[in-house]
This record gives sequence, structure tokens and C-alpha cells, in this order.
Amino acid sequence: MSYTLIVAEVRRGVFEERNLDSLGLGALLGAQSVLLVPDGAYQVPDKLVDVVLKVKAAEEAYLNPMNMGKILEAVFAARGKPDHVLFTQSSSGTESAAYAAGLFGMPVITDVSGYDRDAGVFLKSYYSDKVFGQFKAAGAPAVLTVRSGSFREFAAEKAAAAAAEAIEGAAAVEARTFVEYVEEEKTDIDITKAEFLLSVGRGIGNQDEVAGYEELAGALKAVLSGSRPVIDKMWLPKARQVGTSGKTVKPKVYLAMGISGAFQHIAGMKDSDCIIAVNKDPGAPIFQYAHYGIIGDIHKVRDKLKELAKG
Ligand SMILES: Cc1cc2nc3c(=O)[nH]c(=O)nc-3n(C[C@H](O)[C@H](O)[C@H](O)COP(=O)(O)OP(=O)(O)OC[C@H]3O[C@@H](n4cnc5c(N)ncnc54)[C@H](O)[C@@H]3O)c2cc1C
Repeated sequence: MSYTLIVAEVRRGVFEERNLDSLGLGALLGAQSVLLVPDGAYQVPDKLVDVVLKVKAAEEAYLNPMNMGKILEAVFAARGKPDHVLFTQSSSGTESAAYAAGLFGMPVITDVSGYDRDAGVFLKSYYSDKVFGQFKAAGAPAVLTVRSGSFREFAAEKAAAAAAEAIEGAAAVEARTFVEYVEEEKTDIDITKAEFLLSVGRGIGNQDEVAGYEELAGALKAVLSGSRPVIDKMWLPKARQVGTSGKTVKPKVYLAMGISGAFQHIAGMKDSDCIIAVNKDPGAPIFQYAHYGIIGDIHKVRDKLKELAKG
């Protein structure tokens, strides 16, 4: 019988919400859905799949791609090969997906965010959803990694709870050992919660200028954030970066100073309620997204604003 194997992600005993997207895509694919989970006492949405297959392996072993290779080998031996193997589009999901695809010679499509059932093609988005690519896997089973937030609404309840089955865990593979989870560095400020962001870019020139913009942020009751070059040069901490490889923000006011408006930056702030850009180059792309713009020298504008804010 054809089936879809859904490799769930479990972290610190919690069944991750992003798994619901894999369950949703599993429902769209229409085959029997088999959910693979590691050992542990946690809630599994067992009405959303046909079979829950519990691996006799602890979460840490399950996260190791080499162990996952062995686990898949055992699943394929017990049930035959599925049509699709779904992983989450996360650091551990993509790592295991790549390893499994290489190990079994399976085609892989990463970061799947849509499925056209009539055409039988998977969709991937590019350039912050500006362009979509259509992909067909060159053979089965195919490995897919599923983008979080893309399919959860399609996860459908079945009439009965899933059958529960168990499968032997992988004998520990020595090549890599789980050491510990490392918490993301906590900073005092979460830029995603700020109502007013003053964001600075490479245009500020050098690190010595940061203090002047900190001062302006203080005077305006804003929080200071930055574009990627500012973070790469370590003028501001990583937690302050706006953009695709930083944070997505939606403040009431986003004041961008000396930022050109590369799409990786725009993707992280374009939904701000009011965008104000200051740039000396009238052709800077940021002006296409700004509600208000000032063409001029940012340092002069900074000093003037400071003066006005201080009354
Ligand atoms: C995979 C990948 C991920 C990325 N992720 C991110 C991300 O998360 N966030 C991000 O921001 N970028 C990201 N980038 C980088 C992005 O492509 C741009 O390089 C970056 O956003 C440019 O930053 P900037 O606007 O500060 O610098 P620049 O593009 O160099 O722009 C500086 C601007 O300052 C203006 N300027 C200079 N001096 C003055 C002055 N005195 N007065 C007024 N204006 C002045 C210039 O006219 C110019 O427009 C990523 C790139 C890649 C490849």
C-alpha cells in the first residue's frame, strides 16, 4: 500500500507545531500517512494520521542524521518504501533529509511551500514569495522538506485515532554525539516587540557613529536596529538585525537611515505601519517602500531630529 512517511520533529519532549504542516501536506498527498516519532511522553495529534510509528530511540539519537538513516532503513524493511518522506524545513530536518536522500539515492525537494494536486507539482518560493518554482520529483520515494506555516490548515481529522506501532531504534552511531541544546543568546531587547524602530545601515559609515544614533533612538523613544552589514561588522548585536537572515518586524514606525533597501532587508520590515527612509541617493530602492522619504545626509537629519526631539 502506498504511504507517506512523516518524520516528526520533537524537541525537549515537545511535539513541534511545525509538524502540522507536514501532516497537512501528507493529507493533500492522499496516501496513507505514517507518522514517525521518537520515544517519549508527549502528546501526538494521532487523529490527524493513520499510523503512529514510535521509534525505540531517545530524542537525541533520533536527531542524529546517521541514526535517522538506520531508522529509515528499518521502516523501509518493515513496511516497504513510501512514495514520499516528509521532513520539516528546520536545521535538523534539512540535515536528516539531505543525509537520507544521499544514503538511499532519493530525489529531494527542499522548502516546499505549496502543492498543485492537479498538476502533481510542488511549489517553492523565491525572493520572498515574488516568484514560485514548480518541481516534480524524479522518482520515488522522494524526500521533501516542508516550510513551516504552509500546510497546517489542510491537516484533517480522521474518523478514528491512528494505529500505534513501534519500531526498533537505531543502534547509536558513534560518528556524532549529541552534546547539549544551546539557548539562543538572550538580549534585553526584542526588536520584534518595538513599536518604533530606528534602523541604521552601512550608510552610517563607521562604528563611532552608532552612539549618535543610540542617542537619537533614546530621544525618540525608539529601539535601535540595523541592516546586515551593521551586524556583520559587529556595530550592533545579531539580535538587532532586520531581514531574511535576521528578524521580521512590524512596528508602528520604521525609520530607516542609510539603508539601501535590498530585498533581504525589505522582506523583514515591509509590513511596518509607517516606513520613513532617509538616504542621500534618490534612486535607493527603499524609497519604493517608504511612506515618507528624506533625500539627504543621514548625519545632518540625525542631528536635526535630536534637536527637535529634545525640544
Ligand atoms: C543570504 C543573504 C541573506 C541576507 N540577509 C539580510 C538581512 O537579514 N538583512 C539585511 O539587511 N541584509 C541582508 N542581506 C544583505 C543585503 O543583500 C544587502 O547587502 C544589505 O541589506 C545592504 O545593507 P545596507 O542597506 O545597510 O547597505 P548598502 O546597500 O551599502 O546601502 C547603504 C546606503 O546608505 C546610503 N548612504 C551612504 N552614506 C549616506 C549618508 N551620509 N547619508 C544618507 N545616505 C547614505 C547609500 O546611498 C546606500 O543606499 C543578505 C544577503 C544575503 C545574500
